[in-house]
Amino acid sequence: MEDSSPSNETLHLVFVPMLAPGHFIPMIDMAKLMANHGGITATVFITPVIAARYGQTINQLSESISICFIQVPFPSKENGLPENCETADKLSKGQWINFFQALDEWQTSVEHVVEQMKPFPTCMITDRFIPKIAVAAKRLDIRRVIFDGMGCLSVILIHQTEVSGILESDVELEQPFIVPGIPDRIVITKQQLPVFVYSNSPGMKEYKEKLKEANRDAYGIIINSFDELELDYIHELQKLHQNRAWCVGPLCMSNNKSEMASRGDKASIDKNQCLKWLDGHESGSVIYVCLGSLSKMTLTQMLELGLALEASNRPFIWVIRETDGKEEIEKWLSDYEYEDRICGRGILVRGWAPQVLILSHESVGGFLTHCGWNSTIEGISFGVPMITWPLFSEQFFNEKLVVQILGIGVGVGAKMSIFESDEQKETLDYVLVRREAILDAIEKVMCGDDDGEERRKRARKLGEAAKKATEEGGSSYHNINDFLQDIVKPQ
Ligand code: UDP
Repeated sequence: MEDSSPSNETLHLVFVPMLAPGHFIPMIDMAKLMANHGGITATVFITPVIAARYGQTINQLSESISICFIQVPFPSKENGLPENCETADKLSKGQWINFFQALDEWQTSVEHVVEQMKPFPTCMITDRFIPKIAVAAKRLDIRRVIFDGMGCLSVILIHQTEVSGILESDVELEQPFIVPGIPDRIVITKQQLPVFVYSNSPGMKEYKEKLKEANRDAYGIIINSFDELELDYIHELQKLHQNRAWCVGPLCMSNNKSEMASRGDKASIDKNQCLKWLDGHESGSVIYVCLGSLSKMTLTQMLELGLALEASNRPFIWVIRETDGKEEIEKWLSDYEYEDRICGRGILVRGWAPQVLILSHESVGGFLTHCGWNSTIEGISFGVPMITWPLFSEQFFNEKLVVQILGIGVGVGAKMSIFESDEQKETLDYVLVRREAILDAIEKVMCGDDDGEERRKRARKLGEAAKKATEEGGSSYHNINDFLQDIVKPQ
């Protein structure tokens, strides 16, 4: 275990992320932000593989601000996972249970380090989905705040769906229902909900109980959003957390250009080559396509997407994730001579893209996204209108925010979530969204008609609001100060 203990500062904040990119990336951003506020030492627990993914960035940060990263080994082999399989995006089908077992053991190792820490932590900020560390914080009598990787709207919708008991009344999978007790009229179906909301399998029930317990004990909650974006829902969240809910985002704004290039992992495309290509395109003309770090699509579904991009006749960057089934996709790309056909007009990034670097470039005019919360708030941060294709978890709620409430996106018409336990959805030729629907949404977002123009204007305005929120005197800046003052108050 590598360690560099913090010096004796007044406030010592300890961050423990869930080991998935959509969780550790914003948490590292947040630790940086807090460490920048002065008088704070931030310690972030990571694994050796995460440290390697960030490379030099982590060392440079530790040298320039009061932040230290502690690498606690992750017991992958001991739990039947391949060596170095330390983060959720590296899992293959059927490995989730092993991953969660290993994650439990990892949290125990983290607890042992925390116990010995000098100076002792003032407060722990722990991910909502790793409840074991919450128990540890209680045992060690350390104030703990939840970091919820979702936006306020999703947190509230999930809460309302659960407490209203609406799912207990025999709602069919595809039957639309209105989420009760919220400021907007949100219609959703059971098959669009996160599996942890409606599943009642024994394992899930037990896990949900642990999460509930951990949430109940928490001192407060931190969200990667900003007040101006989800005002109604932050108010609801304040009611649930005795006014101790803080929106401190968009967290992606804490990165400079060089940090953007290695955020989350080493980029699979040369940064300068990528920027040069983007520089060569007109403002607002490029579509950026990325479906997050965890998604797995059938081959046929990927083809539909690829063919829609080809048919769009617009410049694009398409991120194709390293995942099971990669060989089949590569074979299709080669047999169809895809790259020759789109030569110069499109770039395929195989692996990891420097997403915020791309989104922050002015030539990007549309973001085809799976609506993971980080991707959603990143698109909002840089004023980019979105083509929405939710796949699983709370992504259908995020789509409602983008399309229905904010009016900055157009959906491709995804009707249900893709989840790995569903055998039918894994057959190679299973398709949920056809190329015509994808193309139609692309055209609506990218075209120059009045609707498209209005959408762009709204997106631009939100981008400006996001920037303002994180600047000195902005709402998120203020909320961080408020949070830092609050957590030292006697309980
Ligand atoms: N990301 C990235 N490059 C990629 C894929 C993902 O930088 O090629 C980042 C993205 O910017 C975001 C995170 O990984 O910060 C993904 O989180 P999100 O909540 O959008 O989706 P998830 O991967 O959790 O489904």
